Amino acid sequence: MDRFSPSRRDTQPEMKVRKAAHALGLRFRLHRKELPGSPDIVFPRRKLVVFVHGCFWHQHPGCKRATIPQSRQEFWPAKLNRNVERDSAVVSALKEAGWRVEIIWECETKVDAVLGQRLKDITRSGHPTIPGLWERTAKGPL
Ligand SMILES: [Zn+2]
Repeated sequence: MDRFSPSRRDTQPEMKVRKAAHALGLRFRLHRKELPGSPDIVFPRRKLVVFVHGCFWHQHPGCKRATIPQSRQEFWPAKLNRNVERDSAVVSALKEAGWRVEIIWECETKVDAVLGQRLKDITRSGHPTIPGLWERTAKGPL
């Protein structure tokens, strides 16, 4: 793994998301290797996976952090395009396997209140995979 690897750059925002999920009392697992793309955070009962993506490395659409460096033109566009293509292949594979996929972008992790709300929205939407689970979880976190 080289030092420009996306996964290392993503560590800080990912830690913030984990912390926020803990604060909300959500139960999750990390980096389930058997799932495509080894998602950063997995909510097994909700059949939900969350990726925490660096805006630059994963080219957050419309984000000011997602600019492509002017230097090394032979390198950056190809490298970043590869990341984006891989991300989209991973999302497709997960959806085919029946998972809901959400991306939390680095820029969404900067303000705790914003991140907390985002996590609430993500984990409250969608349908439970176990009948009756939703009614129980609606009263409080799992
Ligand atoms: Zn962004």
